[in-house]
Amino acid sequence: PEDIRVYEFAEACGKSAAEVITVLFGLGMMVTKNDFLKQDELEILGEEFGIEVTVKDALEDANYVEEYQEEEIDDSNFVTRPPVVTIMGHVDHGKTSLLDKIRESKVAAGEAGGITQHISSYTVEKDGQKITFVDTPGHAAFSEMRSRGADITDIIIIVVAADDGVKQQTEEVISHAKASGCPIIVAMNKIDKEAANPDMVKAQMAERDMTPVDWGGETEFIGVSALTGEGIDDLLENILLQSEILELKADPEAKAKAAVVEASLEKGRGPVATVIVQNGTLKVGDNIVCDTTYGRVKAITDDNGKPIKELGLSETGTVLGLNDIPVSGSVMVVQDSDKEARDIATKRAEHARAKELSKSTKVSLEEMSGLI
Ligand code: GDP
Ligand code: MG
Repeated sequence: PEDIRVYEFAEACGKSAAEVITVLFGLGMMVTKNDFLKQDELEILGEEFGIEVTVKDALEDANYVEEYQEEEIDDSNFVTRPPVVTIMGHVDHGKTSLLDKIRESKVAAGEAGGITQHISSYTVEKDGQKITFVDTPGHAAFSEMRSRGADITDIIIIVVAADDGVKQQTEEVISHAKASGCPIIVAMNKIDKEAANPDMVKAQMAERDMTPVDWGGETEFIGVSALTGEGIDDLLENILLQSEILELKADPEAKAKAAVVEASLEKGRGPVATVIVQNGTLKVGDNIVCDTTYGRVKAITDDNGKPIKELGLSETGTVLGLNDIPVSGSVMVVQDSDKEARDIATKRAEHARAKELSKSTKVSLEEMSGLI
């Protein structure tokens, strides 16, 4: 990094040297106006004053690692990758049941009270092509993941029970889905029911700017039943069609990058993270960093709990080997060495602590001045 003194930095951003010194002093960093600022101090000051501090030697900065790797991606190895599909909709409209029917398994029966407790993901195959599904307990988790930068969803399925129609959470989901810019498919579920009324669903959705293709609009509506399995093939074919249009591509040879959709502490196993691979291939033995956590991939299990050696593009599985539980929505990145992984994680943790501390220091200074 280019050396810069406290007073020079203050001048450059229109602050007094005293202001700069006060911020650092509050964090236990003793500086005078002629001292050179260290990189971490610059970062903290940048955040404190709401200005962008560009550190010239960016490659050494943990916060630039992901961006740097992104630039390094070479598209000559790009191959088509499977789509990642997020299922959203009003509670009890049949999201989990639909996913179960697709995998022909019985997750809903095992869930406490039949309500999805966590985001979960599964990879299925249709005509030899893979599709990864993400079941969400609500749009809040979806938006949180987006805000953390784990923009994993390629296609959104909005499930609307055909006997119940558009409900409050359907409305909320529509606006989140539209904001994401992803193609949307409407699955009108429970068409096996006597009271099912697909035309009512279409009319209600059309009122919300989601006009069905067969009404001259752009949105695909597919009648399905998670009970009988009717329409599910149609739905999967439609997903593959949309996916083709999107031309989803990534590099299986790149350093792996995977988004964490769920993480927890499992008895006897330690921290486990359910991930979806966004680029590269995640392998057992890889050194990984994930936000402020790090480790080496000890084991990977697929969505059926079966041990596997690696996870490919858009595939989902559970990773064992992190030193702590990462936050959902954080991105796991493979590093060349365990030292690198640890250093980045440690640096981020320190930075996060300093940021917290700087917040509380600011509050207490303000409180103090209020008292004086
Ligand atoms: P979620 O909250 O959206 O995940 O909904 P669930 O999958 O838990 O389903 C809610 C209820 O609707 C359960 O009792 C399911 O058995 C029932 N259900 C879901 N899909 C269908 C369907 O296609 N037909 C019928 N008749 N019932 C369904
Ligand atoms: Mg559910």
